[in-house]
Amino acid sequence: MMEKVNIPEIFAEDVFTDAVMQERLPKSVYKQFKKSIDEGRDLDLATADVIANEIRTWAIAKGATHFAHLFQPLTGVTAEKQDSFITAPKADGSVVTAFSGKELIKGEPDGSSFPSGGLRVTFEARGYTVWDTTSSVFVRHDAAGTTLLIPTAFYSYNGEALDQKAPLLRSMQVISDSSIKLLRLFGNTSAKKVAPSVGAEQEYFLVDAAKFEQRKDLIYTGRTLFGAAAPKGQELDDHYFGTIRQRVASFMKNINEELWKVGIPSKTQHNEVAPAQHEIAPIYANANVAVDQNQVVMQTLKRIACQHDMKCLLHEKPFAGVNGSGKHNNWSLVTDTGENLLEPGDTPHENKQFLLVLAAIIKAVDKYAGLLRESAADPGNDHRLGANEAPPAIISVFLGSQLEDIINQYIETGSASTSIEGGFLTTGSAALKDITKDATDRNRTSPFAFTGNKFEFRMVGSRDSIASPNIVLNTIVAEAFDDASERLAKATDFDAEVDALISEYAKAHSRIIFNGDGYSDEWVVEAEKRGLPNLKSIVDATEVLESEDVINLFDKYGVLTPTELKAREEVKYENYAKVINIEALTMIDMATKQIVPAVIKYTKSLADTVIAVKAAGSDASVQADILGEVSDLLKATKSALTELKAVSEQATNKEEGKVQARFYNEVVFKAMDALRAPVDKLEMIVDKEAWPMPSYGDLMFEV
Ligand code: ADP
Ligand code: MG
Repeated sequence: MMEKVNIPEIFAEDVFTDAVMQERLPKSVYKQFKKSIDEGRDLDLATADVIANEIRTWAIAKGATHFAHLFQPLTGVTAEKQDSFITAPKADGSVVTAFSGKELIKGEPDGSSFPSGGLRVTFEARGYTVWDTTSSVFVRHDAAGTTLLIPTAFYSYNGEALDQKAPLLRSMQVISDSSIKLLRLFGNTSAKKVAPSVGAEQEYFLVDAAKFEQRKDLIYTGRTLFGAAAPKGQELDDHYFGTIRQRVASFMKNINEELWKVGIPSKTQHNEVAPAQHEIAPIYANANVAVDQNQVVMQTLKRIACQHDMKCLLHEKPFAGVNGSGKHNNWSLVTDTGENLLEPGDTPHENKQFLLVLAAIIKAVDKYAGLLRESAADPGNDHRLGANEAPPAIISVFLGSQLEDIINQYIETGSASTSIEGGFLTTGSAALKDITKDATDRNRTSPFAFTGNKFEFRMVGSRDSIASPNIVLNTIVAEAFDDASERLAKATDFDAEVDALISEYAKAHSRIIFNGDGYSDEWVVEAEKRGLPNLKSIVDATEVLESEDVINLFDKYGVLTPTELKAREEVKYENYAKVINIEALTMIDMATKQIVPAVIKYTKSLADTVIAVKAAGSDASVQADILGEVSDLLKATKSALTELKAVSEQATNKEEGKVQARFYNEVVFKAMDALRAPVDKLEMIVDKEAWPMPSYGDLMFEV
């Protein structure tokens, strides 16, 4: 019998939730804590001590032996340093446990080994992690035992942000302030805060662990660097939303339970387009919480996969020839009184506040299209953007027919008087009720699509943190709101000025609106005509961080200082160079030690066969042909291998930073493709028994 799962009972059982706090903390302490959050003030140490002590008792009751500050350095993954609750042994040899307010609030990991883009030299090792009091602490149970985890932001000794969370929290403050300013002009006096709500849909692949272990490329780089296409790919569309295999289903069951326990409202799961590809999405939360939760989701997917003798691949492009994985970042703005600024209502043409918000977002996205593209730049994502499966590298906005029509009315007449209605869907059967339709169809190819009451940014890579896109969205939209507020504050006729602004923004930025097929070649041409940037590679995209507009934007809003921004740019180049270098070295290793020797052995057996067949007086021409073909490909492989070694060597001597990154992008990457081509052909000819690693078919169809 399958054991029953009671969701409300297990949900957040491992989280030090607000309810737990209220129950455990003295009233005055709880109040003090809430006040510090509401007013954005520091928590005093005395209060922190009481909270820490309660957290310790609670965590130890859950089995915790250690605590750790969780932070998100610029590597994109989550880092943590664990300390046990143990104190120094007393004279009698006994120990007790302790956890102070200071340990809760502040950590001091030796930060010298994390990328800082030159913000800190190695001997200045000090870095501080600071508790994000708006993201709950929780315990994690794994092979290491039970650990209390504290979400934190990470700073250098000089107070520069070394992570994703610090600028994210700053950008959330900025968008809150700007939204409130705009809302006040519209007569809203009740809302005090506005928070970006974010929901991340996460794609991933699952493969068998034993097969994974036989592929050095998967082990070292997370993706296959060689591999001929399997006879079957995703052409039948039979995997998408298809029945979930039992092994995967039991994995998903575990994942959900694990996520629910740590308070992540895991909601949707299904098979994705590619074989062995799946998706999971929790219900949205405030941006910082959603970012933290997405990191936990990724870690949990990996951990639980191992328990099912599988490996979870989060790389953006584990397999050539079938879809890669991305992450959809759903984003909206919600007041503390529960109003979603992106809710159009039934008659959007009458909802002036919504239309101005929409027009301002359109303006922001057009003005900073390159920056938004950059926020999704990740080495693995270069394989997806524009590759007929993910939105192209060109940013455009999809509004849907209803809103596009309203925007067009504004462009043509300066106002809007009607909204297209969705109407009914007639099922044509008495057994099925007719249903009301949305006013707008979906568009799967748009990188930035309006989907009812939120925008969905679909460019983000599956492995990447969703912090960057949200930092960018919050900040660029804040600027657009402020521009509008400035004009409105001066207006003598408020309503007329709102209409004027909507028309003005719509006219000036309509080039970014595109409702057609974003995957088509025609769009690439059309976008170029419209003057929209098409930043194909991560190196092109990263250069955006040098533009005056971008530097000023982040500086003006205090989200990233020019120094912090420069550091981020450097980290991106460095990281890209390192990733491609590892891939190139892995290819060289696999080709030299596994593939070439296997093929040589195979040619020997073919040659022996030719001789034997001839000696037996038969025709050996077929065997000889194959031998010839294999030998030619082997030769091509050897020369491509020599070339890849040479350019990899050259790359390491290039000046670090942009120059080196560009060399990897333009030269090394091509040499890798050139090596892959003959090897993949060989895989199709050589005896499967002789091939030194599992094939695409083995990996994708035998999970
Ligand atoms: P889709 O429309 O893409 O099929 P869903 O409606 O299920 O998907 O939502 C996808 C993600 O968007 C989920 O994480 C969901 O919680 C989140 N989401 C839904 N509404 C909002 C909103 N107003 N703001 C931010 N995220 C949202
Ligand atoms: Mg979606």
